[in-house]
Amino acid sequence: MAKGERNIRNNVIAGVLATLIASGIIAFVPVVRDFVLRLAGQSLGLLQYLKRPVALPLWLVALLCLGSVCFALLVAAFLVSRRAPRPSQEESSLNYRKDEFGGVVWRWRMESDFEPYTISAFCPVCDMQLEAQTERYGYAPSTYFTCDKCHYRSQPFNMDPGELQAFMLREIQRRLRTGEWRQAKK
Ligand SMILES: [Zn+2]
Repeated sequence: MAKGERNIRNNVIAGVLATLIASGIIAFVPVVRDFVLRLAGQSLGLLQYLKRPVALPLWLVALLCLGSVCFALLVAAFLVSRRAPRPSQEESSLNYRKDEFGGVVWRWRMESDFEPYTISAFCPVCDMQLEAQTERYGYAPSTYFTCDKCHYRSQPFNMDPGELQAFMLREIQRRLRTGEWRQAKK
């Protein structure tokens, strides 16, 4: 039997036992029985009293209705605000300062939304900051990163380092706009 089912069964047994014990006390202890009977009698009397019609001016009825509606709306708003998850510090896009692109780990600073700066590349194996190397084949530049520590070598990017920086800036801003930044590993 699952833990949840066992809990429900135990609660049902406890409820039935409590009801039986309470009924036993009410039925067999005279003081309690008299008290319960008197309470029941008075409740019935109160019920009869509450059933009597009274004359109220319409404006008061309207005011009471309006008041009840306002109160219900306030309670509903309070419940909704309690339920809605508040964006915590961790979920703020200002804390999006690291992501992976092209097999390389990128880190940057972020002080206001959508303005990342000092974007740097890091080794995905040992986390050493990477050096960019550029080769040119005719006019086409090819930039790759090498790690001094573990000799990791990244895939080539078909841009020079300046273009790659500008591209990464736009890529980070794109991920911020689309919400993909939420999937980045911390
Ligand atoms: Zn490395």
